[in-house]
Amino acid sequence: MSSAAAAVPTTDFASLPFEEKLDRFAKVAVHVGLNLQPGQELLISATLEMVPLVRRITEHAYKAGALLVSTVYSDDETVLARYQYAQDASFDHAAQWMADGTAAAFKSGAARLALAGANPALLAGQDPAKVSRSNIAASKANKPAMELITRHAINWSILANATPAWAKLVFPGLPEDQAMTKLWDAIFTASRATSNDPVATWKAHSQHLHERVAYLNEKRFHSLRFHSADGQTDLTVGLADDHLWAGGGGTGGNGIFCNANIPTEECFTTPHKDRVDGVVQASKPLSHQGTLIENIRCRFEAGRIVEATASAGEDVLNRLISTDDGARRLGEVALVPHSSPIAQSGILFWNTLFDENAASHIALGQAYATCLRGGEHMDETTLAGKGANSSLIHVDWMIGSGQMNVDGLASDGSSQPLMRAGEWA
Ligand code: ZN
Ligand code: ZN
Repeated sequence: MSSAAAAVPTTDFASLPFEEKLDRFAKVAVHVGLNLQPGQELLISATLEMVPLVRRITEHAYKAGALLVSTVYSDDETVLARYQYAQDASFDHAAQWMADGTAAAFKSGAARLALAGANPALLAGQDPAKVSRSNIAASKANKPAMELITRHAINWSILANATPAWAKLVFPGLPEDQAMTKLWDAIFTASRATSNDPVATWKAHSQHLHERVAYLNEKRFHSLRFHSADGQTDLTVGLADDHLWAGGGGTGGNGIFCNANIPTEECFTTPHKDRVDGVVQASKPLSHQGTLIENIRCRFEAGRIVEATASAGEDVLNRLISTDDGARRLGEVALVPHSSPIAQSGILFWNTLFDENAASHIALGQAYATCLRGGEHMDETTLAGKGANSSLIHVDWMIGSGQMNVDGLASDGSSQPLMRAGEWA
């Protein structure tokens, strides 16, 4: 990460015109998120509302020596047209040829950038069965490409782009233009793009997370126990054999260091798919594929969810965990202090990229092979033998808060406080 943001602006970020803020953010995408290398192809996914940022990113990517930048755009209205007019068979179909092309691009060295921020409630009024079927079809088609991502074979990154529908959800009381301004500012701040030298800022941030990770890896805990002061959560999460903690930037299988999530505040690892027991209450609503699921409460036995309720979106939740056997089991456990800048902003973003970095969380579904010692070279059977879960889904949901205590349990049963009232102990 050297060739980055060469010019160090002397201006205060808040006083910059929006165009310049966006330009600075585009540099963060190319030089911090992706660390795009000369000669690399870049594949971007975005919605039509994100064209201004995509144009900036494309410019900086070519300046950084990109061989070719290609963007796949989606559009809310055409997505809805499918739900309104398409024949029933459409919902079990996905563009396999495009998914194959994406996997081929990654295999031949392309980097991947996803822009998040599409209307979180776009599909809220649609038939949940059709939503679920089309998600399953898309997940199946994209499995080879996603595997290259979960194995961190390439450099990739996700950043956010404010959109009117999203901004309205986050700031319901404000007119659209004010809500957009506030959401963009929250994104820039959380993404550490406001610093005069974002590359250096990110290097220091990553270093800090790497130190935490090193501490947790040295401890080699057998399990973690989450217990909240209000008694709503008492969950023991077994950790996979040979689990590795990760956090901050990392080097992909192609040798390129990247920051896959912007922002990121988490230290995360792979739970054991058969050793999760107890009750857990979500601390924030979950926005999943266009539907909002609120007050999730689940009971686990021997790794599986045996009971799941929600005050809103319970039907979607139950469909989600019925996707396949692995959808009822955990694929990730992550620790985030309550003092993280995103938690402190007090903003509920209704977007996992942000909300997962405001609170400790767990994820249903697919585990990250890179969170096991030597995992990136293991086949699925070996990974499963270590306790790593496999599923078509990977959905994070927030369980941490200022009330949450976390203990690390050693294999001899001894326990050590890791977090108290949401902070590192
Ligand atoms: Zn996470
Ligand atoms: Zn996750």
